[in-house]
Order: sequence, then structure tokens, then C-alpha cells
Amino acid sequence: MYVKLDAEIIKTLCCPLCKEPLKIQDKEFICKVCASKYPSQDIPQRGLKDKVFDFRIHRPDYCMNRGLKNWLAVQNDYMNGYFERYTKKDDFLVFSNEVESLKEIYAKEFNIKGKVLDIGGGEGKLRQFIKRDNVPLYISVDPLINGFENFELRPNLLKAYPRLLEPCNFLACCAENLPFVKNTFDVVHIKSAMDHFSDPYLAIKEAYRVLKTGGILIISSTVFGGKSFSRAENRDTFLRRLVSDVVYKFRIGGFKNLIEAAINKALKKKGWATSHIFHWKYDDLIDLLHKNKFRIIKEHWQTFPLDMIVWLETKKII
Ligand SMILES: [Zn+2]
Repeated sequence: MYVKLDAEIIKTLCCPLCKEPLKIQDKEFICKVCASKYPSQDIPQRGLKDKVFDFRIHRPDYCMNRGLKNWLAVQNDYMNGYFERYTKKDDFLVFSNEVESLKEIYAKEFNIKGKVLDIGGGEGKLRQFIKRDNVPLYISVDPLINGFENFELRPNLLKAYPRLLEPCNFLACCAENLPFVKNTFDVVHIKSAMDHFSDPYLAIKEAYRVLKTGGILIISSTVFGGKSFSRAENRDTFLRRLVSDVVYKFRIGGFKNLIEAAINKALKKKGWATSHIFHWKYDDLIDLLHKNKFRIIKEHWQTFPLDMIVWLETKKII
């Protein structure tokens, strides 16, 4: 099947809330210190099942503030439309163009080595771009628990990303509450996820905690300000954004993709709405990293039409 959890990962697990060790009891992880349980969920797969452990914190509704309720509503909306959206959009051209554009970034700009934690890593697409020999351990974590569901219904995705056919270390959790002990990873990778977090401050603190000293945090995000074409978060960039969007959709998937995107936008289909909670300003992102003792060692900007995306390689210092 497509999901696994290596013994080496299990050794590094802790309670995502209180960070104390976990026990396995009746096929679920339990924390006796704060009385929390982390069971597994069955994910449908070729008529069989994949088991995914759920380390998300499930607060009762009456314990959630308005911000958290809003975040959860956006996440659920995204998750509900996810499977339908991705089986319908299983387009080889789109995926292979995506692979080509990212290959350049990972091969030329960043060298990922060691034990890797991919936060918001979904189906573990990053594996396609890293050398097996350089990365003895890889795990993807994502609150989207059903990302691996019925993989065989997405043959073009698997054709463009053949490494997805290999079982992937994966568990469901949120970036703000990572279930790993401190000083575990050499690399933490956060690609296009900063705008989805409910509490990015806590998420960066958690990334710092689980990284070894001198470990590398790689972040990419759409930003305004800095060298981004988008100077401010307001309407004067609307036209420029539209042009970028149209050029990107055309370049990556041709006319078919462009027209589909336009129709979906016009219909405002459920699940197609943005799932972004934050819109990052370049200066704020840099400030957040500095405040949390990450030294920036490399900055890379994507080119038109994606020249609003910045990639940062940063090092955990003490
Ligand atoms: Zn606990």
C-alpha cells in the first residue's frame, strides 16, 4: 500500500500536545500524561485499506475560538472537495510541467540531505526531487488525512511522479502541534503551506524544536513586497495577478486547463475557493524567521509568471 510508518519514525514520536512519550495500546497511540488518544483511520485503497495515524487535535466545538472555527471550516471545505477535484484533474501535462519547473529549483538551488520532515507535504511529492542516497528518512505530515485515498484513480499523477508508488511515511497532524521529539530532523520543508496555518508563529516554533541545531528549514511562499511583483495586498495588483494566473495556467496545462480554470472560477464551485488564511508580506516572513533564530542563508525568487513566490533556505542557530 502507499502509506507506512517506519520503526525509526515511531521511535521519535511524542504527544503533539504535551510532548511526553506515547504508548501503543489497542492499535492506537495514547498519552497517559495528558489523557489524549491518537487512533488510526482507514483510507480506501484499491478496495483495500491504508492505515493513517491521526495526530490532529480534535477539540470539541465549544472549545474553539472564532479564528479556529473559521480555519477548520476552510480546511473541511478544501478536504471535502479534494478527492473529486483531483480525480477530475488528473492531467499528465499539468503534472509533468509541474515536475519540470520544480526539478530545476530542487536540483539547482537547494540540496536536501539527511532526515527530512515535509510539513504540509501531502502525498510526499518532494520525494520525486530528492536523491534516495542523500535522504535516509523522509516523512510527510499534513492535516489532510485522505490525501492518499484511492491513488489508482489518479494514474497520471503516478505516471508523472513515479516515486509516489513507493510507500510513504505519513501521518496526519497540524504544523502547530508536531508529534515528534526535539532535535530529530536535519531538514524541515514547508512548501506553499505558510498561508494555510492557523498559527504560523507556533508552526515556526515547532519547526525549530524538531530540527537539530544547524538543521535547515526550507520555506517557499507566495508573498507581497520584497522582489515580488505584488507590492501590496490590495487591488492595484489585480490585473497583474490575473495576467500571471492566465500565463501560468496556459503554460502548465494549455488551453484546456485555462478554460477549465476560468469556468470553475466563474461558477465559484464549492472547494475551488481559496483556502488561504494568511497573505504573507515578505518583510513579515523574514522577521518571523529572524525572531525565531533562523539565519537566512539563501533567497531564491521564481521567475514570471510565478514571480511572487520566494524560496528561503534558513539555518537553525542557537
Ligand atoms: Zn500528552
